[in-house]
Amino acid sequence: MKTMAEKVKMIPPSDFFRAELSGMPSKKRQTGWVDGGLCPFHEDHQKGSFRVNLTTGSFNCFACGARGRAPIDFVMSRDGLRFVDAVKRIAEEWGLA
Ligand SMILES: [Zn+2]
Repeated sequence: MKTMAEKVKMIPPSDFFRAELSGMPSKKRQTGWVDGGLCPFHEDHQKGSFRVNLTTGSFNCFACGARGRAPIDFVMSRDGLRFVDAVKRIAEEWGLA
């Protein structure tokens, strides 16, 4: 049986970022690093500094320094949650709980 964290880690990063970020490219076949639109970690008014990796789930903002390696890191940083609570929130939002 899979733990909740394992289930959350199976969400494709491309699906996760398209759901969480406005202004993401909708091209389904896009992979690797792409522009993530406005950065959700600082008061961002101009696109271009926030990038996400649709293959690995990494994200990186050149303006504010926010970075992480997975959707769970993204939710922990954005919402100020501990690992277990971030896993729980994602699982609930994605109907995995
Ligand atoms: Zn930023």
